[in-house]
This record gives sequence, structure tokens and C-alpha cells, in this order.
Amino acid sequence: MSEETIFSKIIRQEIPAPLLYQDELVSAFRDISPRVSSHILIVPNKVIATINDVTVDDELTMGRMISVAKKLAKEEGIDETGYRLIINCNEDGGQEVFHIHMHLLGGQYLGPMLCLPTLSKKG
Ligand code: AMP
Repeated sequence: MSEETIFSKIIRQEIPAPLLYQDELVSAFRDISPRVSSHILIVPNKVIATINDVTVDDELTMGRMISVAKKLAKEEGIDETGYRLIINCNEDGGQEVFHIHMHLLGGQYLGPMLCLPTLSKKG
């Protein structure tokens, strides 16, 4: 059973976290540790561990994630000022929770696209 991630529990409301959006495919809630003033996670209801695990059957869900990001950006009032959508994948991508999620980040200037570490942790 692959339905047990911290995000599945939030989606099922077994862990209380206010849902900003939920439909039959995706859910959205605020990141517990916001990096910017507006930091929302958009998550498929179904557990997909990483972007590497997405199949053609998931294309509707992946598209819905973007539609919901657009809607929430408008509700947050950051659609015109701008925002960034990020999906991290595996170790080099910095993925910590292995249940795909799209970060919606905005509410302030986000700077350059990447801030790379000076030295690679792989040496
Ligand atoms: P990533 O590094 O892309 O896997 O991002 C995982 C994100 O999940 C981080 O930004 C965490 O702050 C966030 N996170 C972890 N646990 C929770 C939680 N219980 N509720 C909301 N966000 C969480």
C-alpha cells in the first residue's frame, strides 16, 4: 500500500492542516515551513513518489496541478506580481517528501532561478 505519506494523511485530514483546495485529483495546503510569504503545496491525491514515476495515465492530474496553481496564485493576489512553480525530484533536486508536490512560491521577488551550493556535496 503506497498511500502512506505525510501528505496523504493531510489529504485525508488525518493530520489537521487547512486545505486551500481539494478536488477528485489534487489537494493544496500551505507549506509548514514557508520559504517565502506565499508558499503553497499542490499535491496529487494519489501517491506518485517522484516525477520519474509519472505515467501517461497521470497527465490529467499533472495538468490539474498547474490549473490549481494558477487559481491559487490569483486568490493569493500574486498572479500579476509573479510566482514560481517548482517540483523537486530525488536527491540532487532536493526532494524530501516522496509524494509529488508542486511548490507555488511568491509574494516577494524570488531572485535568480537557482542558488547553487559553492561546493557539491558529492565532492
Ligand atoms: P521537497 O523538498 O520538494 O520534497 O519539499 C517538501 C516540503 O514539504 C518542504 O517545503 C516542507 O517544509 C514541506 N512539509 C513537510 N511536512 C509538511 C507538513 N506536515 N505540512 C506541510 N508541509 C510540509
